[in-house]
Amino acid sequence: MQSIAQQPSLFTPEDLPEVSTPWEIVDSEDQLYAEVVFNLPMLKSYHYLVPSGLRDNLRPGARVRVPFGTGQKLTQGYCVSLTRTRPAHRNFKAIESLLDAAPLVDAPMLRLTRWISEEYLCSWGQVLDSVIPAGVKSKAGTRELLHFELAEGYETRLTTLKLSATQQRIVDVLRSTTEPMAGDELTGLAECGLSPLQTLRNKGIVVATKIRTWSKSVSSVGENDTSAILLNRNQHSAVTRVIESLASGKSETFLLYGVTGSGKTEVYIRVIEEVVRYGRQAIVLVPEISLTPQTIRRFRKRFASVAVLHSHLSDAERHGYWQQIARGQVQVIVGARSAIFAPAPNLGLVVIDEEHETSFKQDSTPRYHAREVARQRVRDAGIPLILGSATPTLETWLRGIRKEEIVLSLPHRVAQRPLPPVMIVDTRNDQSLQKGASLGRAMLVAMRESLAKKGQIILFLNVRGYSPALFCRACGQSVRCPDCDVTLTYHKQRQIALCHSCEYSIDPPTSCPNCGKPGLLFLGQGTERLEHEVKARFPGVSVLRMDSDTMQQKGSHDRALESFRQGEVRILLGTQMIAKGLDFPNVTLVGVIDADTSLHQPDFRASERTFQLIAQVAGRTGRGELGGKVLVQTACPDQPAILYAARHDYTAFARQELEHRHTLGYPPFVRILRIILRGEIEADVEKAAERIRLGLESKGLERDGILAKILGPAPCPVARLKKYFRYQLQLSHPSGEVLGQLWREIEPIVPELTPVEISVDLDPISFR
Ligand code: ADP
Ligand code: ZN
Repeated sequence: MQSIAQQPSLFTPEDLPEVSTPWEIVDSEDQLYAEVVFNLPMLKSYHYLVPSGLRDNLRPGARVRVPFGTGQKLTQGYCVSLTRTRPAHRNFKAIESLLDAAPLVDAPMLRLTRWISEEYLCSWGQVLDSVIPAGVKSKAGTRELLHFELAEGYETRLTTLKLSATQQRIVDVLRSTTEPMAGDELTGLAECGLSPLQTLRNKGIVVATKIRTWSKSVSSVGENDTSAILLNRNQHSAVTRVIESLASGKSETFLLYGVTGSGKTEVYIRVIEEVVRYGRQAIVLVPEISLTPQTIRRFRKRFASVAVLHSHLSDAERHGYWQQIARGQVQVIVGARSAIFAPAPNLGLVVIDEEHETSFKQDSTPRYHAREVARQRVRDAGIPLILGSATPTLETWLRGIRKEEIVLSLPHRVAQRPLPPVMIVDTRNDQSLQKGASLGRAMLVAMRESLAKKGQIILFLNVRGYSPALFCRACGQSVRCPDCDVTLTYHKQRQIALCHSCEYSIDPPTSCPNCGKPGLLFLGQGTERLEHEVKARFPGVSVLRMDSDTMQQKGSHDRALESFRQGEVRILLGTQMIAKGLDFPNVTLVGVIDADTSLHQPDFRASERTFQLIAQVAGRTGRGELGGKVLVQTACPDQPAILYAARHDYTAFARQELEHRHTLGYPPFVRILRIILRGEIEADVEKAAERIRLGLESKGLERDGILAKILGPAPCPVARLKKYFRYQLQLSHPSGEVLGQLWREIEPIVPELTPVEISVDLDPISFR
């Protein structure tokens, strides 16, 4: 057991004492019970007896193996609490074994994961299983090595034995240390091979223990370069205000509302410096695509230890960082959504940059939003939260208006640089665009001008592939995926027609699969087609396309951005991958090829998204001395989202959009619970959806004096996905708690609806 005490968190199940079941179970007065939850969609927790052999080692937050369900199959679960009070039922089963020598999560994380399960209507076990990285569960990156030490009472034994010179050296080396020594190190120091060591073991002089050690370690070392940037007045007052809050021990949330390039990141860094001075840690969440070397470098430059958690980490690296963080060795954790669960022992601050980004919401169970989890985590810890954005979500903005949260503004770009002028191009007045080209007259003129002045260009089009539809003029149909309700996208380079929902693909058809007539039309443009057109229009100019097709390889994203930074690439074109966070002073033109793709989504947030998109891409230019401008091609130039974005007027946009949402009864004035049903037989799915609706109505929809509204059932916008038919219901009410209650009341009928599968999504951001 000694080894466990030395390396508490690094041990695997094999290292624990062998359990000889059945344990002796005495149902005595001071029996200990463990509450266990499972990674299964069920709300109940179960109590198990803790066998005497595990009483000293089992802690809440560790995994156990217990008999469970029909057949009492040994199943893995999470111990979430221990109690001496006998729970009210009989026939306790005992825990079969303990899987973690030390808890994987601490008490605050147990509270947080429990809150998530209640808020997002899933089980606690599902949340725990999802937030603890696989590499931490499997202890990836560690291995067991034999370590040696002198046996108890070896001295008495030595009196009757004669040792060889080599054996004596081994004993001497081991005498000089108090810790067991790794085999390699020992044979090195004693200048010997393995056999004398083995002899000493046989003679009972030396004993061996297995100890888990890291095979490769991760580095979080930064440069800690102190900055010379002088904060401007607005930055200074923002920093001062948050630091006051830090000192107060209150949990306040700040919306750092600042246009692109207004110096928000510098504000985060200054506040974090203060947090680090207190000996505490900070978590900074950024969208995955912003985890560029540029961002990382900025933090590494300013702090002595920074862990970067992105999706390309191996299990071993993730585990390595997790342990470093848990030991308090990391000052700043920068990462995407799941970094909100970083086990920082003394967290002092959470920052969410680009608060409005949809990637902060997880789209599988648990369907949490990292911003809401952060709000809960900081409340529990009594620390501040900073949400940064140039285009805050209307949910966050409304909290600011209602003074529930504190708005800190950075209204200007640093160094007095103006925001770029945004020009709207009406595509209906341009013949070549009408004929299917991507670059209109105005765009071509602006591009030529920009290139002539040695500037660089970014073109944005959020559709990948060559064309999003293969259209038959004879029968008026498009080629569709047989399993999903979507058209196939033509990819010219790969020579396939591909379903972007399920990856189904076929050779590009030459005739219509519906009517058999030849001559399919490539309808609409994707980035691949845009690339062809740009190259044809600007021969000799280096063009780079960035989308998930060209950026498959690890590191390709960074290489692409580096060649753009170096000026080797003059025109960068791509999907939303290039809309965010990039800071290249030489970019003098940003072109939005088709603003209407985001405007015409079946989603009440389409307008908000379009505004955000134009504001974000506009943020990519005008950052240097050359200035810059933005061209937006659209067939809807009168849409408020486009008009306000062209004026850089977020507050006016927010005002009118909030009015609109208020009138229609949409978030942020209500919350929505989306109930999605799927099954292989459409009639079953529809019937199940109808039963849910009737069930909800029978429970009484008036709660807190306000009627909860039900929309549907109706087929989802993508009515078929991966062979499943999909239906949805939308339940709305101002209180999220009420929505939760209603769902919990109706949930017991869910098992009766099998094989139709049901999932619920609170505050959905996708309505596909
Ligand atoms: P944002 O996060 O709002 O887009 P950044 O913090 O990235 O803005 O700032 C944009 C650029 O301006 C960065 O290169 C940053 O180093 C620089 N910067 C920030 N604050 C100042 C300042 N007070 N004086 C001069 N340069 C600054
Ligand atoms: Zn498909």
